[in-house]
Amino acid sequence: MARTAASRPKARLIEVFSAIQGEGLNAGDRQIFIRFAICDLRCHFCDSARTWFSPPTCEIEQTPGKRDFETHSNPVSMSDLLDWIERQNQPRLHDSISLTGGEPLLHAPFLQEFLPLLKERTGLPIYLETAGHLPQQLKIVLPYLDSAGMDIKLPGVSGENHWVAHAEFLQQCCQSPVEVFIKIIISGQTDPKELERAAELVAGCDRQIPVFLQPVTPLKPSEILQGKEGICPTPPTPEQVLEWQGLMKRQLDRVRVLPQTHKAIGQL
Ligand code: SF4
Repeated sequence: MARTAASRPKARLIEVFSAIQGEGLNAGDRQIFIRFAICDLRCHFCDSARTWFSPPTCEIEQTPGKRDFETHSNPVSMSDLLDWIERQNQPRLHDSISLTGGEPLLHAPFLQEFLPLLKERTGLPIYLETAGHLPQQLKIVLPYLDSAGMDIKLPGVSGENHWVAHAEFLQQCCQSPVEVFIKIIISGQTDPKELERAAELVAGCDRQIPVFLQPVTPLKPSEILQGKEGICPTPPTPEQVLEWQGLMKRQLDRVRVLPQTHKAIGQL
């Protein structure tokens, strides 16, 4: 039986806005960002702790790049979200749509129905930004993606340990036509053995997958949650970055170092 609009899954969002992508392979591209609420991880360096839980409302930009947000109630319907994205999608402005969070894959049943409609309405490529630890949910969403940026969380830096899930996640990406790249946050506390393990994991799939080492951005006082003060990672030294890029390049062909460029230009 066909689903009615009312019975379709809804999404819990933080915000929708137009901005310049600041990380990884698409850095510098203009994207429409759909930032989903809720994350099941608690990375020490997280600058998006406001996304961990679902707020009662979300903020929706009305004009691309103008930050003229209007407030709507959560959860939101597919048809409302499609209308908001269509309003953002001015001719020739955006390169792609970024699904970000929080962890967007926690909304896999919604995405499974939403992404084909989104593609049909906008014609824009769909890019998934994920922590790379939910392979079962990826399986549901993968057919509708064009590209994916996945994290490998180094336990010594993030406080999270997901080696097995990362390997399964990357295998799935590699067996699909989706373009994938890896992001690894490094800090002064990085254990080179964990970097070697990450390089092995990637090389086990394809040594040509682009890997971005992203030096941690120090958190602003307002981004540090109470009780986290002692565990916020500090940035690596220039010497450490040079050494660790060399270490990764022994096993991989494309290892770049790139900080968060959107923060350098004062963007969201
Ligand atoms: S996965 Fe992302 S949003 Fe979730 S805690 Fe880690 S850095 Fe924050």
